[in-house]
Amino acid sequence: MRIGHGYDVHRLVPGRKLILGGVEIPCEMGLDGHSDADVLTHAIMDALLGAAALGDIGRHFPDHDDQYLGIDSQVLLRKVCSMLDAHHFRIGNLDATVIAQRPKLSPYMEQMREKLSQTMGISVDRINLKATTEERLGFTGRGEGISAHCVCLLEEI
Ligand code: MG
Repeated sequence: MRIGHGYDVHRLVPGRKLILGGVEIPCEMGLDGHSDADVLTHAIMDALLGAAALGDIGRHFPDHDDQYLGIDSQVLLRKVCSMLDAHHFRIGNLDATVIAQRPKLSPYMEQMREKLSQTMGISVDRINLKATTEERLGFTGRGEGISAHCVCLLEEI
């Protein structure tokens, strides 16, 4: 068994879609970034790459590379899962937390789990998603951005 951890932050700005876990969430603000800025999916990818000792998403999908401009992060997650396959790893489970003052994410959690399970080709019971606010403290609390943490276990096959 191998453990991995991922963390990511994106800034909230007007005029962008809010995509979390591959699901578009209605909101007057969205996350800014080179890709679709799906902060949850980015934290998941970094946890998976970390557990496999394969670096991080910045190394595999650099944000100065135009081929990743506006890309759907589910496409990148699929690529990460192919790398895990190639290195003979299987996902045991992952547990992620999204930190956002708003919008309320609980109505979308099951849809996100479903989407991520389809992208990764694993059952939903291997994916746990949580959301919390930071009680109006710090950059997430002020609504300036959203962050996400993820831990995962990989099994060697
Ligand atoms: Mg990111």
